[in-house]
Amino acid sequence: MESKSQRTCGELKVMKNSETRHPLVRVKDCLVGGHDVTVIAGPCAVEDEETLWATAVQVKKAGAHILRGGAYKPRTSPYSFQGLGKTGLRILASVGQALGMPVVTEVMDTADIEEVAAYADVLQIGARNMHNYGLLKRLGKVEKPVILKRGLSATIEEWLMAAEYVVSGGNDQVILCERGIRTYEPWTRNTLDLSAVALVKTLTHLPVIVDPSHATGKADLVGPMARAAVAAGADGLMIEVHIDPSKALSDGEQSLTPGQFAQLMQDIRALTSIRQRRVS
Ligand code: PEP
Ligand code: MN
Repeated sequence: MESKSQRTCGELKVMKNSETRHPLVRVKDCLVGGHDVTVIAGPCAVEDEETLWATAVQVKKAGAHILRGGAYKPRTSPYSFQGLGKTGLRILASVGQALGMPVVTEVMDTADIEEVAAYADVLQIGARNMHNYGLLKRLGKVEKPVILKRGLSATIEEWLMAAEYVVSGGNDQVILCERGIRTYEPWTRNTLDLSAVALVKTLTHLPVIVDPSHATGKADLVGPMARAAVAAGADGLMIEVHIDPSKALSDGEQSLTPGQFAQLMQDIRALTSIRQRRVS
């Protein structure tokens, strides 16, 4: 039997049958949610200009479309590297501009929205802020696309409702990002819920991308889960890459080297070319 909330869900602006349907999200020249798989890559955090530049040149060469890098970092410990803040935003924007790549970075605080929007082409809402309704409401008024990560323990309905806050506020440029959910399993950082990707794509017109880096926490698992995500119908990927993961100030264990990322891009290209698939 349908619950009351499920019936309400059917009337949401983010749902497929909605009149406000907007099938594509435009990030500069990049269309997310269309035929192409969009790849976002870069380090967890902007650490300094040289390191970001070295990584960005390589991910661009391998075929990434959008550059990522955190300037405001949500860290479990207040003693861990918190990001460079405004300096990080400036570095990210200038590297992105020099390479002709749009950039995405996280906005953690409502008070920072204007500042982050001045530098970023896409605003990321991190998993920990998916339930921050004040932030979501304000993003409804921003004229920049938003990547909305699924909360650490958010149900699919809660995730879609969070997107509804942004879309109903007037901003229909929302990309959903599955980044793994918290389960009882400690051998991976999170559990990648690929069934959510396939399901959500039947429910909403919004593009759905997958972040296998935070989903697994282990560089060795990023490639297999990225390939699985594309096979499951994801509209894009967000991958952490660092020029030297052993020296990364955050999330080095889950970051690919540029060489590993280039190999993954080749795999993804092969996977997306139907002619190269065979069952014999
Ligand atoms: C990130 O993308 O850097 C990040 C912190 O991700 P999440 O919010 O999914 O943990
Ligand atoms: Mn990270």
